[in-house]
Amino acid sequence: MKFGGTSVADLDRIRNVARHVKREVDAGHQVAVIVSAMAGATNQLVEWCRAAATLHDAREYDAVVASGEQVTAGLLAIVLQSVGVTARSWQGWQIPILTTNAHGGARIDAIDGAELIRRFAERGEVAVIAGFQGLHKDTRRVTTLGRGGSDTSAVAIAAAVAADRCDIYTDVDGVYTSDPRVVPRARRLDRISYEEMLEFASLGAKVLQVRSVELGMVHNVRIFVRSSFEKPEDIDPHDAPPGTLICSEEEIVEQHVVTGIAFSKDEAQISIRRVEDKPGVAAAIFGPLAEANINVDMIVQNVSGDGKTTDLTFTVPAPDFQRANDVLARSKGSIGYARLDGATDIAKVSVIGIGMRSHVGVAARAFRALADRGINIRAITTSEIKFSLLIDAAYTELAVRTLHSLYGLDK
Ligand code: ASP
Ligand code: MG
Repeated sequence: MKFGGTSVADLDRIRNVARHVKREVDAGHQVAVIVSAMAGATNQLVEWCRAAATLHDAREYDAVVASGEQVTAGLLAIVLQSVGVTARSWQGWQIPILTTNAHGGARIDAIDGAELIRRFAERGEVAVIAGFQGLHKDTRRVTTLGRGGSDTSAVAIAAAVAADRCDIYTDVDGVYTSDPRVVPRARRLDRISYEEMLEFASLGAKVLQVRSVELGMVHNVRIFVRSSFEKPEDIDPHDAPPGTLICSEEEIVEQHVVTGIAFSKDEAQISIRRVEDKPGVAAAIFGPLAEANINVDMIVQNVSGDGKTTDLTFTVPAPDFQRANDVLARSKGSIGYARLDGATDIAKVSVIGIGMRSHVGVAARAFRALADRGINIRAITTSEIKFSLLIDAAYTELAVRTLHSLYGLDK
């Protein structure tokens, strides 16, 4: 069971979490609970580091920001004990959760779940584990897993103790076919495959840290996204509660061609005009961008008509737009191009579904529907289970709703 920041925001909410945990323990389940810091706590800690010194040692940043989860793990263990549940808190280093030494964004290498499993069996003890943090195996310094990292802690622990399921309790009751704030008729999905969820997560549906879904896919951990705001007493632990199960494709019986529509408004488009058409040009463009740590997304290059030059378009996160332009201007000599065009008032709309592998004409229908509404498509990219369209930002809502109805996703 994993509880995020809003679910442990104060002592009342922590008592509510304890009732969820007690319900599962009383039903005879062995439970590990992974907690985030109280809502807002991590932001405050990050801010203090920044205020202390703009440029600070990443190891000390981790020492500071890992502390939020230590507090909630201890508090939840106290509250659980007070309601008669045997419980013990664990920090990352105590288990230990061994990670790489990429401070501020470490990846989990290994977790030994043996001691936790022994205590489940011998003492019926609930393990309350501080999410987001780990230990680098050589330096023995505390590390953190990047913002939103407790999701990843939870899935990794679930794999380490061979859990039947990893329940992510959050402030939404599942994964939706699209953002309900934009598409009022969006529906909660009962099930979604890891691959589809990866597309959703990386496209800005901020339900889960992307890395947690990757881990779930590799270790085949069934991840269940559900609400922590339901009354713990109203839930029958033997019944299927409302929520979305993220699982392997084989577990999904009811197949739709399209599972959902994602979109993102925080990307910017860069087009390089009349790039020389010769070996090494793409490397000369994307090498420096990678070195500058700029994450490039859609890349579209045309086949040259005259064999001399071509156009190349790609997107970058909007906050990196200026920096990307600067990098390209500096590399103009080594790349060789006529000019740079850009746009920031654009949106990327993506249609996602594993059913696309076996159906034809899925994208063609979208093109027709958007054309009927006068929406121009600036660029298109596709992969096996998704296609993405770059459009003017002003049409985002209209495009997303149109596609949502088109593929029969409306409730
Ligand atoms: N507390 C950390 C954060 O705010 C980790 C998490 O909540 O998942 O990013
Ligand atoms: Mg989160």
